[in-house]
Parts: sequence; structure tokens; C-alpha cells
Amino acid sequence: MPNPILVLNSGSSSIKYSLFIPGQIEAIISGLAERLGEPEAHLSIRHGNTNQSIHIPNADHRFALEKLTLLFSDMGIHPENLTAVGHRVVHGGEYFSESIIVDDDAFRKIDSCSHLAPLHNPANLLGITTMKLLAPKVPQIAVFDTAFHQSLDPQAYLYALPYEYYKDFGVRRYGFHGTSHRYVAQKAAEILQTSFDKLSLISIHLGNGCSATAIRDGKSVDTTMGMTPLEGLVMGTRCGDLDPSIHQFLGHKLNISIDRVTEILNTSSGLLGISGISNDMRSLIEASDQGHKRAKLAIEVFCFRIARHVGGLATSLNQIDGLLFTGGIGENSAAIRQRVLDNLSILGFDIDQKANLTHGKQHNHLISTKESTPALVIPTNEEWMIASDCSQLLSS
Ligand code: ADP
Repeated sequence: MPNPILVLNSGSSSIKYSLFIPGQIEAIISGLAERLGEPEAHLSIRHGNTNQSIHIPNADHRFALEKLTLLFSDMGIHPENLTAVGHRVVHGGEYFSESIIVDDDAFRKIDSCSHLAPLHNPANLLGITTMKLLAPKVPQIAVFDTAFHQSLDPQAYLYALPYEYYKDFGVRRYGFHGTSHRYVAQKAAEILQTSFDKLSLISIHLGNGCSATAIRDGKSVDTTMGMTPLEGLVMGTRCGDLDPSIHQFLGHKLNISIDRVTEILNTSSGLLGISGISNDMRSLIEASDQGHKRAKLAIEVFCFRIARHVGGLATSLNQIDGLLFTGGIGENSAAIRQRVLDNLSILGFDIDQKANLTHGKQHNHLISTKESTPALVIPTNEEWMIASDCSQLLSS
């Protein structure tokens, strides 16, 4: 059996991990270290049918990863014997259009993108540094959220600002969720039995963060997120598209700083902001069904915005071979997909109600009628995609 690949998503106070055997689609072990730096910090481990949670009070990233590698060692998986560690890295700026083995130069470049993702890149780098210490001989591989969108043309990535801001500060649209969009698009190629580099698709990732991407000939040509993940669709707590004047207006009205306005747009807006009760779609659907007016409104704005963006993304394509739904909401909510597709009849979508209710599971992922532009539900698997990139990089 080949040695496993460890996949890490290292955030500011949490580390999500999965262990894959190369070639296998399901992780053999997975879990989460949460609330790092707090007395309540703990490490959860899912292995087969067993779930374990270990209290690791005040543990930092290093302690949590040490503990994890010790647990792996007890199971006979020594850190030095890992094939690779694959790290999700949020921002690769214009440096990286594909996954790479992290050497000193790459490390510096990722670090230099930290000003574009100050909450994420430093935490991702911390994961890389710690694993280098714990397993010095094992290749550390970075898989970027932005890489898939590096194929965007200037017409799609430039903001209409003075050009120097792009040149001097990197102010442009980068796009995110690239690993997820790439995964579901490749999966769609398998399902539709067409070569990936001939396909025209629109993928919609609807989780806590939400984005949609137009893919032509296997390449991302437009996407809804921008310089940061705040742009585009309505999300759990992020506002998505906004008139930029609102920053100043709210700053004056509420007598608060630009930083505070930005925080509100990121953490108290979106579904939570409109509904006033939750950022969680399940709770909102339940509340809406019970007559909660603002929950209903939040759902309407959410779906309207998706359809509006899909319409815009379609202008980058000559045809739509498939509209792909993924992410927690996209994969599980028949009601949201129905509303989105109803708003998109102009693009030839016609939903198959029965197939939609079973999330396309009995219909080879399809949730549209034979006459319709194809719409599919494809569960994402970013962790597997990262592991797969590791295998491919090492074998090339
Ligand atoms: P993350 O972006 O954190 O990975 P997920 O992809 O897990 O998030 O998506 C979380 C969202 O999916 C939440 O809004 C949750 O309510 C929603 N969700 C999960 N299951 C369902 C469901 N059955 N119906 C509607 N929404 C769902």
C-alpha cells in the first residue's frame, strides 16, 4: 500500500486535516483541531466508524500538529513516511497558476501575498512551517484557492480603477474556491463523457462562502469573487456585491472606521444580515417555512443574486454544457436549486422535480429534463483534489 498523503487546511484558530491513501477517493482518517489558543481547544479524529475528541487546552498550531502526528505514529503511520503534505493555501496572487512543491522561494512568494489575505495566508504558512519541522524530508505541497482562476483575461480581472493600483498594489480580481470549481468541473467531464478541455460549464459553489465560475475549454474565464472573497454572491455572513460608496456612507452614518465597516460586511451581512436570525441556510428555510418574513427575503435575495451572476457568467461562454451545483447548500437543498433554476429559464433550464428532490443521485447527477440545458449536482471534494495534486506533482 502506498504511503498516505496528509491534507491540511490550516486556519487562524483551527486545522482541518484528512489522510488519503493515493488513488483512494475516501480519506482514511480525518478531523479537526479547533479553538486553538483557547482553554477549550480540542482535536477530533474520525477513523472508520470511530470518533474521538481529545482536549488539548491552550494548544497552538504546533502542539496540535505534534499531537496529531503522535496519534498517527500510534497507528503505525510515521510522519517521515508520509508521501507528502498537501496544504490548502488561500492566496497565490499572480505567482501561482498551479500547485507547487514549497521551497524557500515559493514560501517567500506565499508570504508576500499575505497582505492580500491577512487572515489566511499567515495561518497557511504556519501549517507549512510546522510540518517542515515535524517531517523535514517530506515534500510540502501548496494548492492555491486562486490558482485555477489565473487563466482569467485582463478584461475579466481588472477593476476600472487607475491602472497603477493594479501594477503597484496588485488590486485586481483573483477569485477563490478554485480547487472546488476545478474538482466539480473535472467530475462533470467524466459524467458527461466529454473531454475536460472541450467543456463549457458554470459551477456554483454554495457553502458558507459562495462563488460561481464560468469555465471554457477547461479553463476558468470568469468568476464572481474578486480581490477578496467578499465580492459576488450573497454568502452566509458576507454581503457580496455592493456599491462601493456604501463604505463611506455607513462610516459616516454609524460614526465607525473603514475597518469596522469592512468587518460588518464580512461577518454580519449576507444571509445573517438580511434575515437577522442566522447565516445557516437550513435554519433559514425552516424559519421561512414557518412564516419568518426576513428569512424568506434573505433566501429570495440569495437566489436572485445567483441567477443574475450566472446570466453574467454565461456571456463568457458559447454554450452551457452543464450548470453545476456544489457546496453544502448546492448539494443538499432542492428548494434553493429549484428557485435558482426557475430564475434562469431564459438560459433554457427546466428542472426535473423528481431528480432534484433526490439531488440527482438516481439520475447520474442530472436534475434537469431531457430538453433542458443540463443542470447537475456534484458533491465537491477539495481535500481529495489536494491529495490528487500531490500525487500528480510527485509523479511528474
Ligand atoms: P463550508 O463553506 O463551511 O465548507 P458547507 O459547504 O458545509 O460550508 O455549507 C454550509 C451551508 O450548507 C450551511 O448554510 C448549511 O445550512 C447548508 N446546508 C447543509 N445541508 C443543508 C440542507 N439539507 N438544506 C439546506 N442547506 C443545507
